Amino acid sequence: MAKINILDLSKEELSELIRPSFRAKQIYQWIYQKYVTSFDAMKNLPSELKKTLEESYILNPLKIIRLEQSADGSKKYLFALLDGNTVESVLLPMKKEQVDEDGKLVHHTKYTICISSQVGCKIGCAFCLTGKDGFKRNLTAGEITSQVLMIKRDNNIAENRRVNIVYMGMGEPLDNLENVSKAVKIFSDIDGLSISTRRQTISTSGLSSQIEKLGNMDLGILLAISLHAVDDVLRQKLMPINKAYNIESIINAVKAFPIDTRKRVMFEYLVMKGINDDQQSAKKLVKLLHGIKSKVNLIYFNPHHGSEFQRPNEKDVVAFQQYLVDHGVLCTIRQSKGLDISAACGQLKDKEQLNGKC
Ligand code: SAH
Ligand code: SF4
Repeated sequence: MAKINILDLSKEELSELIRPSFRAKQIYQWIYQKYVTSFDAMKNLPSELKKTLEESYILNPLKIIRLEQSADGSKKYLFALLDGNTVESVLLPMKKEQVDEDGKLVHHTKYTICISSQVGCKIGCAFCLTGKDGFKRNLTAGEITSQVLMIKRDNNIAENRRVNIVYMGMGEPLDNLENVSKAVKIFSDIDGLSISTRRQTISTSGLSSQIEKLGNMDLGILLAISLHAVDDVLRQKLMPINKAYNIESIINAVKAFPIDTRKRVMFEYLVMKGINDDQQSAKKLVKLLHGIKSKVNLIYFNPHHGSEFQRPNEKDVVAFQQYLVDHGVLCTIRQSKGLDISAACGQLKDKEQLNGKC
């Protein structure tokens, strides 16, 4: 019988399989809080149970095969799955640790971990490397959560240290809603990684019907929309999914989405030189977001080999931001972390393949 990836199981599912059921809680704590890498290391389990676990379950579904560290502290991981496919994740430290005169820690580093949800992607956006290779398969819930577990373990990030998760790596999370929503719940288990759903952001290219489904699940997660264009003609060229789900349908789905009253929906806007960096687009964006509690995140296009688009000029991005702010729209410019380490999704994998070819 094929072994089961134990990370694919919620604590409730595990407690159905492993009796007595309190063992599930212990196993969860060993895996997600004490970071053990073998069943044998789960000291408070009877040896008979450890043997059964060893025979029937997989504990390490991912292997780090490449790691790049950026000067700004971000780290990009390339993981191999058990079937040989590869996916990427990025660790982004958000704040430097600071010590006061007495050597006491006053500011802890905050971490954001960017994770993948699929091997490849079906959506095929013109600017994105992940889409170029087509789609291979969905990740299971355990392959999704394992990325965070591996990164916490590899960086000795204390079990109780706050971590935010963004589903902005490879793949379209809402095209794998079943496994992604399961991962959201496993992440938030208090005997596991204990990452509240309010610290998890799902980013989507705008599959309106799936946004509606996700909303009905009422998980309490944050939503990010990769908008990137304000009219359907341009958006269709950049993101073929816009043929099936146009801008209006996305805006309507966002308006119906349940959001914590203290939070906002994030609209990501990838700025490409001469394509969507003009003041006219900024004006249209303000109109489009009218009545939505939103926050716009401007992202510099990150060029990759063979890409037809270019990184925008800083002055145009700043002017774009200024227009939004002047018209009452909250807008930040994403600091381009890890530019020296193939930061955008798909780029590390691409490099690995290129190296392979050389
Ligand atoms: N499929 C989802 C989530 C993964 S992509 C989505 O599209 O939202 C995460 C983000 O990376 C998206 O906003 C996407 O537009 C952006 N991205 C893709 N290629 C990029 C590039 N070359 N430079 C900068 N951002 C890029
Ligand atoms: Fe897929 Fe997102 Fe890349 Fe588009 S931007 S191809 S949806 S991963």
